[in-house]
Amino acid sequence: MHTFSRLLDIIYPPRCHICEEFLSCNKNEFEDDDSLPICISCLHDLTEITPPLCPVCGIFFKSRTEESHMCEDCLRKNPFYDATGAPYLYEGGLMTAIQRLKYRGKVHLADSLGRLLASFTRKWLENGNDCLIMPVPLHPKRLRERGFNQSLLLAKSVCSLLDMELDFLSLRRVRYTQPQTGLSRSERRKNVRRAFEVHDKAGIKKQTIILVDDVATTGTTLNECARVLKRAGCKKVFCVVLARTHGT
Ligand SMILES: [Zn+2]
Ligand SMILES: [Zn+2]
Repeated sequence: MHTFSRLLDIIYPPRCHICEEFLSCNKNEFEDDDSLPICISCLHDLTEITPPLCPVCGIFFKSRTEESHMCEDCLRKNPFYDATGAPYLYEGGLMTAIQRLKYRGKVHLADSLGRLLASFTRKWLENGNDCLIMPVPLHPKRLRERGFNQSLLLAKSVCSLLDMELDFLSLRRVRYTQPQTGLSRSERRKNVRRAFEVHDKAGIKKQTIILVDDVATTGTTLNECARVLKRAGCKKVFCVVLARTHGT
């Protein structure tokens, strides 16, 4: 098998999953595993989100002199989720990669992006062994249009790498909504209101849920998911997203 995959590497040299340059002469060392198909320059180009930040919604503070604390928005609105972790800023090569995955069907990207998310989740969660991982669901109609749910692909990757349990059936999207892009904060809230339902309440009662999504902008969708999950009896809801759009 090893020889076969080497042979494949010669016939089809692996390319970076972000910039599509050949990888052979530009390999990265990713946590002792040099097989992450992202080149050194793309890996260095990722903008990591570092404290100070709001631990609840994950937004970072542009002023670098403060300590991490709850942001004004979370203090006022008290979201249903308990914490949000996002490793990277939604910009540059990562933004392009996420868009190529979602809108151009480049599903092979989910593997490398999922590994970046799994690596972050491992460090971010102190003890995630008894948590259930749930992707933000797509409406069946959107699923038919796109052919896959990018959040489910990322969640699957996180589960298999961290040996956690995946639940992609209990939380369902029951209302077809327009994309959140371009909407104001209040329009976003209205747009996702009552868009989700919990299918099997008994199965998730008193559970700690890790909600997985690709990008968070205002956190409105995550909060609506967290609202129905908490109402169904979940103990805690943590969100992990690969990228956050902006700071405050
Ligand atoms: Zn690259
Ligand atoms: Zn916040």
